[in-house]
Amino acid sequence: MPLSYRRHDQFTVKEGKLVEYKGHKSFSMEQLSIRAKHTQSRRHISPVACGMLNNEDGGIILMGVQDNGLIDGLMLSKAQQEHLVANIIDTFDRYRPKVPRHFYDINFIRVKLTNSKTKEDKAYLSDESNIPHLLRTTKLCWCDHRAMTSINLGFLHKCWLIELKIHPRDHSDPRTIKFVHTSTFYDDSRMFQSETGKAYYRIEDMTKRIA
Ligand SMILES: [Zn+2]
Repeated sequence: MPLSYRRHDQFTVKEGKLVEYKGHKSFSMEQLSIRAKHTQSRRHISPVACGMLNNEDGGIILMGVQDNGLIDGLMLSKAQQEHLVANIIDTFDRYRPKVPRHFYDINFIRVKLTNSKTKEDKAYLSDESNIPHLLRTTKLCWCDHRAMTSINLGFLHKCWLIELKIHPRDHSDPRTIKFVHTSTFYDDSRMFQSETGKAYYRIEDMTKRIA
């Protein structure tokens, strides 16, 4: 992965078993709006992550990229970045079994705007707070309200590509050996069940439900 991209750069790698592009960052099932549930136009990301975990060879989910590989990036304040990390960890912690932290990494890669005159990252309101982020809901969090206030006042946050990397399962890693031996899986196939209680796997660029 390069250190940064420019907005509207194009990935040449097509989506497949190990790569999925998402234009949004809605990760858990609670973030699905009623409309999205009916249209399926904006499915939450967790089933894809579950499928990559169950395939054992891992994969990469890139948020802020259109299906065709065009990079848009997502404009996020520092607090919104923290929110996103907290949200992914909270969701993986609700999997059965809970996904060990060494199974995945979350990285933020800068997407530079092509118009260099745009002021970036000059948040109008302070971004620091001890208030917990609002998870497991479609409602906006305090961090989103602050970011929107900043944007309305003409202050833009930096643009990011979010990379969720699911590592290939390494059965020689002592942490993984211990995890597999001490965890309760719902059957002998040792699949993870997502926060919805359903298990998924990947075939090419598709995520299929097992149970
Ligand atoms: Zn938040």
